[in-house]
Amino acid sequence: MSNLFPITTIRGSKPGPDGLIIAGVHGDEYEPIRAVVQLLKELRNTLLCGSLTLVPIVNISAYLTASRLGEDGLDLARTCPGNKSGSITEKVAHEISNLIRKTDFLIDMHTGGNLFDISPLSGYMLHPNLEVLETQRAMAEAFNLPIIWGTSPELNGRTLSVARDENVPAIYTEYRGGGFYPEGITDLADGCKNVLAYFGMLPLEKGVSKVALIIEDNHPGSGHLQEMYPAPEEGIFVPEVKLGQEVKREEILGHIWDFTGKKKTDIFAQQEGTVFLIRAVPMAKKGDALAGILSSVNKD
Ligand SMILES: [Zn+2]
Repeated sequence: MSNLFPITTIRGSKPGPDGLIIAGVHGDEYEPIRAVVQLLKELRNTLLCGSLTLVPIVNISAYLTASRLGEDGLDLARTCPGNKSGSITEKVAHEISNLIRKTDFLIDMHTGGNLFDISPLSGYMLHPNLEVLETQRAMAEAFNLPIIWGTSPELNGRTLSVARDENVPAIYTEYRGGGFYPEGITDLADGCKNVLAYFGMLPLEKGVSKVALIIEDNHPGSGHLQEMYPAPEEGIFVPEVKLGQEVKREEILGHIWDFTGKKKTDIFAQQEGTVFLIRAVPMAKKGDALAGILSSVNKD
């Protein structure tokens, strides 16, 4: 039991994999939190084998301020593996990293939080160990969200970086944001159960695949959502595209208006592809991400 966040472990009657499912690494991402609570209710006495550890809210100090960041101003997903005697976010990072090192697989569920709307997707790092990578690909496929996105493995500070260093197969998910989407609770809980079935921990129910787009992009920094289409200046963001929209190069994604309403700066698509991330609020500081595009063809 942790003093820093709630942990529940459910055990099957036979030996098997030990899995870890977590939500609330960021305090303003609610569908995953609700999905883990649903799993806590649904999965009791149902596991065929192994064990499943569920953490519905990793980052309580961020949750209690409805914020992405902890009360010390740190982003837990940039602070792993943390520090046992550091600030609150560093301590939480230390403790969740210890759990991740002990598990056989990890699912870490996110949303775009207060600021972003993101197309539902399952992501993983393009792990140098082929066995780990293949397991991650299978987990993402089983989770069954419309987009599968493998990205560059070099990013640090994340739960997935800790898993990477320990050769623990790990996926993360994104599911909308900038509002609450109740259908996300079911989609995410079902996704987790599909992955448990893949590992033999629940009966396998073969459903219809919803996967529509699989992209693997090994460019350095490819998985860094907060750096996409940075605002050229501070202002009021007005999007001109919708999630899932196909855009061409040079198409207008949106505008930044200055506070006098006189100056409009156009934000142009720099690549052809599918819009999968849009800033969900007008507030934009210089450098804040405004939009994200997934291209099936790599630029290099
Ligand atoms: Zn998050």
